[in-house]
Amino acid sequence: MVSYRTKVAERIRLPSRTERERNLAAAGYNLFNLAADDVYVDLLTDSGTGAMSQEQWAALHRGDESYAGSRSFERLEAAVRDVMGFPHVIPAHQGRGAENVLYGTLLEPGDVALNNTHFDTTRAHVANQGADPVDCPVADARDPEADAPFKGNFSIERAREVVAEVGADRVPLVILTITNNSAAGQPVSVANTRDAARFAEEIDATFVIDACRFAENAHFVTERESDYADATVAEIAREQLGCADALVMSGKKDGLSNVGGFVATDDERLAEACKQRAILYEGFPTYGGMAGRDMEAMAVGLREAVEEAYVAGRVDAVAQLGDLLTDAGVPIYEPVGGHAVYLDAAACLPHVPAAKFPGQALVCELYREGGVRGVELGSFAFPDTDRPELVRLAVPRRTYGRDHFQHVAETVAAVLDRREEVTGLRLATEPPVPEIRHFTAELEPVES
Ligand SMILES: *Cc1c(COP(=O)(O)O)cnc(C)c1O
Repeated sequence: MVSYRTKVAERIRLPSRTERERNLAAAGYNLFNLAADDVYVDLLTDSGTGAMSQEQWAALHRGDESYAGSRSFERLEAAVRDVMGFPHVIPAHQGRGAENVLYGTLLEPGDVALNNTHFDTTRAHVANQGADPVDCPVADARDPEADAPFKGNFSIERAREVVAEVGADRVPLVILTITNNSAAGQPVSVANTRDAARFAEEIDATFVIDACRFAENAHFVTERESDYADATVAEIAREQLGCADALVMSGKKDGLSNVGGFVATDDERLAEACKQRAILYEGFPTYGGMAGRDMEAMAVGLREAVEEAYVAGRVDAVAQLGDLLTDAGVPIYEPVGGHAVYLDAAACLPHVPAAKFPGQALVCELYREGGVRGVELGSFAFPDTDRPELVRLAVPRRTYGRDHFQHVAETVAAVLDRREEVTGLRLATEPPVPEIRHFTAELEPVES
């Protein structure tokens, strides 16, 4: 059993109901426009928002800010080699920087990239190369009620269909995202990882793992994949990641740091090609847009992420929030994933049609009711797709405790008690790029 005690206190405050009403209207019913100080429990994202350990804070002081040959880079390189098993590391300012470096190196216009599910920034970087991102999730992934252990898996069957259609020559890249962020943070089995690697080899494609939440994924493997019941999280991580030709990583997730990322590979030629592109977009390959001190924090964070006690506590905290919500009768996506609980907004507000953004309406009510900030992932964020209406409550690492989770569950339950009052929203402004409108668009309530 592991828990934390507070060393640095950060005060948070629940604004009065009148203030919350005013803030909501001033933000145009878009919670990205709120000042963080006006939020009581902030579950907008788990990306870079966690608390660092005292070892990470201590490591900051060792930061070597040399432009070239930094000692801090060597320590990051050693951590990636020990924890993930890859000798070549190309640092980047965060995950999407690493995606630009790797996918810009591997893709040409007209190519097709396959992925269990492309995360938003991955999809955007593949498209930015003129290539076509195609998702290959398993059928269960879209069903919030299907009870399966690895709903994040890659569908080899679907991938074969795509290859049969476009031809293997056009598919130079197979990506596996673990955990599957865009499929409610569901894990991927080691067996499926091996199958995906074999499939990539068969079609002569590079096999990349998006390793953002590799430790959370390994924890689920210990619990759900019988072959690995006795293996440690560290052993599983090495074995699973070892299937890949290259990794992309955001340090803001299982790097347990506030910023940073990297590409890692055991292919020297790929590493050299990535370094050339990294110099252009990120920085010299021994810092890649990161301060030396941030590389130190991430190096320590990577090692902490595979400690059993850390990752079990992490996944358990998310499960705890899920249990409190279920106990309060709130419909959620099941099973609960590694980094967030997803509310089934269509089931929460069945009288609000998709055209009136039930997920966004729910997000606004959670703030109005209890100063809680979540994010809509439904018809507002993904126009013209048939995604389920979900609201994500992402849990920052080592940051909130049971009393906060209880507050969140009570808040959602209170909204559901008066659900008939919730009428939905319409767009008041229409940003130029529809794919990213949810970051900036303003909305207004509809009367009925
Ligand atoms: C967060 C994330 C990224 C991008 O990383 P950033 O650090 O936010 O740029 C890429 N892939 C997945 C699966 C992620 O969760």
